[in-house]
Amino acid sequence: MRPFTYERPVDVRAAVAAAAGRPDTAYLGGGTNLVDLMRLGVATPQTLVDVTRISSRAIEETDGGLLIGAGARNGDLAADPLVRRVHPLLARAVLEGASGQIRNMATVAGNLMQRTRCPYFQDVTKPCNKRRPGSGCPARQGDHRNLAIFGHSEHCVATHPSDMAVALAALDALVHVEGPGGARTVPMPGLHRLPGDEPDRDTVLAPGELITAVEVPRLPFAARSRYRKVRDRASFAFAVVSVAAALDVAGGVVRDCRIALGGVAHAPWRAEAAEAALRGAAATPEEFARAADAELARSSPLPHNAFKAPLLRNVLVRTLTDIVEAP
Ligand SMILES: Cc1cc2nc3c(=O)[nH]c(=O)nc-3n(C[C@H](O)[C@H](O)[C@H](O)COP(=O)(O)OP(=O)(O)OC[C@H]3O[C@@H](n4cnc5c(N)ncnc54)[C@H](O)[C@@H]3O)c2cc1C
Ligand code: SF4
Repeated sequence: MRPFTYERPVDVRAAVAAAAGRPDTAYLGGGTNLVDLMRLGVATPQTLVDVTRISSRAIEETDGGLLIGAGARNGDLAADPLVRRVHPLLARAVLEGASGQIRNMATVAGNLMQRTRCPYFQDVTKPCNKRRPGSGCPARQGDHRNLAIFGHSEHCVATHPSDMAVALAALDALVHVEGPGGARTVPMPGLHRLPGDEPDRDTVLAPGELITAVEVPRLPFAARSRYRKVRDRASFAFAVVSVAAALDVAGGVVRDCRIALGGVAHAPWRAEAAEAALRGAAATPEEFARAADAELARSSPLPHNAFKAPLLRNVLVRTLTDIVEAP
């Protein structure tokens, strides 16, 4: 690991000032991803600005919904009774990630900002456009079994690894940030980018912008929601595919729905085509399959991850059926 300096600002304003105009600076949350990447030589910040003591850990109900401090630990979020009651898909998604120990260290902001698990990105002996722009993307011709089937580019086919982000994308969450240019709010989906020709940029955040909170607007039918994750082993593994879904059904007809997909794109993938196909349709497995097909028409699988398309179809139909059949 390269030498670095460590700073512990007294408040958010001081943290933003410490990072302003210094592109070699990184904010430090729980360190469960960043420190690993520093050990591998993938991340080489000159300065770490530790924000764990100044980031709110509160999880509170507001007039509009839920406000989650950027420093809330993943374990606390998953266990919070309010979150479990009003947004069960969010609690479930967080619980499906990592391990108990890691969730107890990991913060909400750090979870959103974690980097891809593409094997070439994590191996500094290999080219990778995300790590070293212009060096190439060996995954396209190489190991892409676990990479994207939606929205990828010739420059990068990586997936975003966060489970929590998929649920937040389904819930139209708002990410509050403070930066050198002031405060702003970034809607999800929209925080994470598709790779295009700049795969080194994971998100739309400008250098030095600090996530301070995540707001989850009230969605009454989110009480009927699910997060289902398929992975290669039962725990401690990232999603091969995942589905976050909420359904509003009355008289056997879908009035409204929210669906986001994980493990399939460079960003949590909002299933807009599936949602459009479902609104007004009968809440049946046949219609759920039709909606899945509408979404998959937007996909472009690669040779070694084509299996994700039928897998995703099955998982989406099962997840929606489970919601309808729940007591
Ligand atoms: C073995 C293992 C298995 C895992 N499995 C899963 C899984 O299945 N699903 C899943 O979703 N995750 C999984 N994870 C990832 C884990 O969830 C992340 O490591 C964790 O959420 C990162 O949070 P952190 O607070 O430790 O972030 P850090 O490691 O501290 O930071 C991560 C990134 O966020 C940035 N950052 C931190 N705070 C802020 C802020 N306030 N504003 C802006 N940027 C900030 C940092 O600069 C860094 O770039 C796994 C991790 C490990 C090690
Ligand atoms: S898929 Fe993206 S992260 Fe993986 S090697 Fe290609 S450019 Fe790098």
